[in-house]
Amino acid sequence: MFGKILIANRGEIALRIQRACRELGIKTVVAHSEADRDAKYVKLADESVCIGPAASSQSYLNIPAIISAAEVTDAEAIHPGYGFLSENADFAERVESSGFVFIGPRPETIRLMGDKVFAKAAMRAAGVPCVPGSEGALPDDPKEILKTAKAIGYPVIIKAAGGGGGRGMRVVHTEAALVNAVTMTRAEALNFFGNPNVYMEKYLENPRHIEIQVLADSHRNAVYLGERDCSMQRRHQKIIEESPAPGVLSRHVTRIGERCADACRRINYRGAGTFEFLYENRQFYFIEMNTRIQVEHPVTELITGIDIVQEQIRVAAGEKLRFRQREIDVRGHAIECRINAEDPYTFVPFPGRITLYHPPGGPGIRVDSHIYQGYTVPPHYDSMVAKVIAHGDTRQQAIQRMRIALSEMSIEGIKTNIALHQELLHDANFVDGGTSIHYLEKKLAALDEVKKND
Ligand code: ADP
Repeated sequence: MFGKILIANRGEIALRIQRACRELGIKTVVAHSEADRDAKYVKLADESVCIGPAASSQSYLNIPAIISAAEVTDAEAIHPGYGFLSENADFAERVESSGFVFIGPRPETIRLMGDKVFAKAAMRAAGVPCVPGSEGALPDDPKEILKTAKAIGYPVIIKAAGGGGGRGMRVVHTEAALVNAVTMTRAEALNFFGNPNVYMEKYLENPRHIEIQVLADSHRNAVYLGERDCSMQRRHQKIIEESPAPGVLSRHVTRIGERCADACRRINYRGAGTFEFLYENRQFYFIEMNTRIQVEHPVTELITGIDIVQEQIRVAAGEKLRFRQREIDVRGHAIECRINAEDPYTFVPFPGRITLYHPPGGPGIRVDSHIYQGYTVPPHYDSMVAKVIAHGDTRQQAIQRMRIALSEMSIEGIKTNIALHQELLHDANFVDGGTSIHYLEKKLAALDEVKKND
């Protein structure tokens, strides 16, 4: 096992990784920006290194500064968390070529999965069902493009092979709009992601977002840890996640989970990962793989009892997975609410000083957060300040525990989206379960109408 790990991230995940290291008896180094000097996890770490100014481009994305921080502190491995450099194959390569272990998949796996055209081809070959679409990247010939769309059937969605973060996508409803949409998406793709390749998929009108968590070691063992339903989203940003996915038959999850674990063995996957699917009419359609820990990993931890971050570290150190598929048991139901520093209805970020903070507690409640009373939420980064996760024997109990937890939670001095969560937790359709990825935006649009007419 490693003696010391450098954490190349910030916020709640930096603290989460630190806790996992502590439990494993590993010393931690936090690489932080000037803006995060006063963060709780910086004080709690065994060592810390300031790697640059507030702007992420000069700190959390500054590869040479992070490598130097690992060198001067004699860390053996680097945990990238999520976001920032976590899915950057060049970074993973630099980490390994500088003599450190990258806590994640091999650089070539990250590169393969980062190109969605390759990723889909790899998944198809492994028997994972994908959204019907073009075979690989679209050609230049407009006639071929029109032919492909006709075969798939409108509406279609044009997506950048190198895309991410919900950017570089365009929905096309008619033949007349197609060629122009492809040209525009191609230009954007080149501009944002440096890769002009685009591909086409059938646009699913009312899907849910359901994903499968996997864990694999470097000895070709792989397991899946059930599914998560992350359909409650705004602008492709998830805000509530839960497991199991309401109304999805467990034998369907087993079937898709086995395919995912199998795909991991085929591509020689190492570490934690997530296969994201759209789910419509009881069918799963693969859209992409995330090759890192995800924000919503705690819901899976609560229902399986497996510490995913610790397992990431163990397999990165070369250990074999400590459990087989049949030993993984799902118990009860878990829900996560992402608490963001923003206006609950306009979504405008609202950083600032926290003048009062009371986290919730009680049976089945977990809070993953780096904030404290007197802490100033910096304006430079993502607005998420806490994750509240509720576990219950049933979905109903998990929802009820979450409602109570959020009613106990007080954060003053900044605005948060707690009120929106409370509203959703009492929403009849959410309570029934199984709402689509468009549900939240439609609900928000309807609320806007009501306000306008008031
Ligand atoms: P990114 O890497 O940018 O997040 P994804 O491929 O994961 O891109 O797609 C992001 C979101 O876009 C999905 O969660 C879904 O809301 C929507 N989307 C993507 N592909 C389709 C599709 N074929 N049909 C309907 N919606 C889609």
